[in-house]
Amino acid sequence: MGGRGEELARRLEEVRSRIATACADVGRDPGQVTLVAVTKFFPASDVEELLGLGVTQVAENKDQEAGAKVAELPPSVREALTVHFVGQLQSNKARRVAGYADVVQCVDRAKLIRGLDGGRAAALDAGVATEPLDVLLQVDLGEGGRAGRGGAAPAELPALAEAVADAPHLRLRGVMAVAPLGLDDAGTRAAHERLVALGQQLGRAHPGADVVSAGMSGDLELAIAAGATHLRVGSAILGSRPAAR
Ligand SMILES: *Cc1c(COP(=O)(O)O)cnc(C)c1O
Repeated sequence: MGGRGEELARRLEEVRSRIATACADVGRDPGQVTLVAVTKFFPASDVEELLGLGVTQVAENKDQEAGAKVAELPPSVREALTVHFVGQLQSNKARRVAGYADVVQCVDRAKLIRGLDGGRAAALDAGVATEPLDVLLQVDLGEGGRAGRGGAAPAELPALAEAVADAPHLRLRGVMAVAPLGLDDAGTRAAHERLVALGQQLGRAHPGADVVSAGMSGDLELAIAAGATHLRVGSAILGSRPAAR
């Protein structure tokens, strides 16, 4: 393992220990919290190093970069990974993303569903996928004049969920959000709690939709306290990226 491998190992260890501490603080089992490493901007070689360190879930946020990176991975590495897509998804990219991702966390409008479903059908036909595509609904947690950071309004979730559930090659798995900027810890935790409550509502209507993806490098403890099942951690593991990524 080179210098980069050691750096990733050290950072990952710090994140894992933050997760363990946060779980212990609220009496949760760390085994119920899935760490997804957000590898956007970083090379396929980092993804491979992370897999060697036991990270099997990775996320990307831009179609072009993600598609190229996944294609670059040796087949044995690709097979061992669950690849999440967390970016803003343009509808003309949905079909393609459904061909190489395992989970799309950012479904925020009905318009994406047809492309994702069709893309997955084609991938299944071609033998490049063996399972339906897992889908999370992205929720906008903006409130009271504070801008949300993308996603469907909470009131839109039931209809969106029905549409995903009706798509034969998609599997509705839960909800995802990015907490609004500029909140203090209590406000951020409350935002995560709103997401958890929306996730529970969704899960009652759609058994099996039990994923709540919340929390990033800066707020993972607050997300764990609120009940998140999945964390999306980029910079704390991989280091800082150029701005606006
Ligand atoms: C980049 C990104 C993350 C990771 O952010 P960090 O602050 O680097 O941990 C999480 N979720 C989404 C949707 C992202 O785009």
